[in-house]
Amino acid sequence: MSEAMKRAYEHSEKWLKGLKTARVNAVASEAQLRLAFAGPLPQTGCAAPEVVDYIADNAKDGLLGSAGGRFFAWVIGGGVPSALAADWLVSTWDQNAAVYASSPASAVIEEVAGEWIKELLDLPKGASFAFTTGCQMAHMTALASARHAVLAKYGWSIEDDGLWGAPQIKIFTSGNRHGSVERAARYLGLGRKCFHPVATDELGRMLPEALEREMADYDGPAIVALNAADLNVGACDPFAELIPIAKQKDAWVHCDGAFGLFARASRKKKHLVAGIELADSWVTDGHKWLNVPFDCGIAIVNDPKAHRAAMTLAVDYVASSQSARDQMDWNPEWSRRARGVPVYAALKEMGRNGVEDMIDRCCTFCLEIVQGIGAIDGAEIVSVPTLNQGMVRFTRNGNSDEQNDTYTLEIMEAINASGEAFFSDTIWHGRRAMRVSVVNWRTTKKDVQKTIAIITKVLTA
Ligand SMILES: *Cc1c(COP(=O)(O)O)cnc(C)c1O
Repeated sequence: MSEAMKRAYEHSEKWLKGLKTARVNAVASEAQLRLAFAGPLPQTGCAAPEVVDYIADNAKDGLLGSAGGRFFAWVIGGGVPSALAADWLVSTWDQNAAVYASSPASAVIEEVAGEWIKELLDLPKGASFAFTTGCQMAHMTALASARHAVLAKYGWSIEDDGLWGAPQIKIFTSGNRHGSVERAARYLGLGRKCFHPVATDELGRMLPEALEREMADYDGPAIVALNAADLNVGACDPFAELIPIAKQKDAWVHCDGAFGLFARASRKKKHLVAGIELADSWVTDGHKWLNVPFDCGIAIVNDPKAHRAAMTLAVDYVASSQSARDQMDWNPEWSRRARGVPVYAALKEMGRNGVEDMIDRCCTFCLEIVQGIGAIDGAEIVSVPTLNQGMVRFTRNGNSDEQNDTYTLEIMEAINASGEAFFSDTIWHGRRAMRVSVVNWRTTKKDVQKTIAIITKVLTA
């Protein structure tokens, strides 16, 4: 056992050291990866250390440097040292963190981590929470709580009677919602047609007068799903105006803050999500802006009764201690790893100040990269970041818009192929743009300069 662990540690150390200088892109082709890993199911075994070496050696060219400081694609995040190390411990302990009885220490650590998260994000102290695999399952958990609560108002028990014959639920939301909201609704049997679109301004923020208008004639069970930062411009819905409108119609308000909810940890950025504390449920990720390793999502629900009712099994045979928290009462999973432990570690390592510093740093670097790119000949800024998301595009004299769409993609691919920095693209208002997303604690001023330098080089070439 220890030799395999030692090898894993050595590979990990090499990998982490390499993040500063190694290529950010994957260079192995799909065919190479298949060649390396495919083959018949082994008839006989192989020594554990060899297995570890084999996987590490053959995977490395097919991995992205997404844990490093020059990775700006999607919204990924890295892992702060204590969180990564704590994640190893969680694997080593190999506890089933389903209930207190099956791992007392995990239950207590996760309980504290959840309390700390609520405090960090300045959300109601009495809210309940769950550590899930990601925001996707956090949506499902929170929306299951919402479904319970809005149907209970109509005397309907979703847990007993299911959805057949239940009053129809409408989800009022903008077109700017993340796809995971829709998928969570599908998991819950609500279906795509339950979505009722609400108009936005040009940045994608829901318009209060539009919500008021859309809800005016409706008096059935309602959920209003709002956005704390979208992926393109980091646009946040005007919560302080929207939530009272929803509340007047007795709706449940759910907020997607996969990364944006962390704006609440920054005194400089908190105003962007002002009023969000008035909502009924929030979801966010540990594996994005908190920088704990995959996977970790968090659901927070300001109606613990609805939350518990939606998730609990309350089975008799699992010993339940009166005061301790059984995670299974709040999670969609049964057996599970204690993914709240790395969260505890990250918060203990950084403290409130450290998290705030990381959030502010990411926002500053995002702005610097966008402005730096914008100053290069042949590049233009599409959106100046207000949080940690910005957009740029590349243009050539005489090009049509369509040609510049293709050109932007070509330049982005050339930047990515350089191995010096890595970006992803999007369509914004019908035109292609390159996103600049900064969520990693490892990104430094030097990374920013190096990134702008490589883009300049690619554009010049
Ligand atoms: C990433 C993201 C999600 C999905 O979160 P997962 O952790 O990948 O499940 C949902 N909403 C937004 C805004 C996101 O950025």
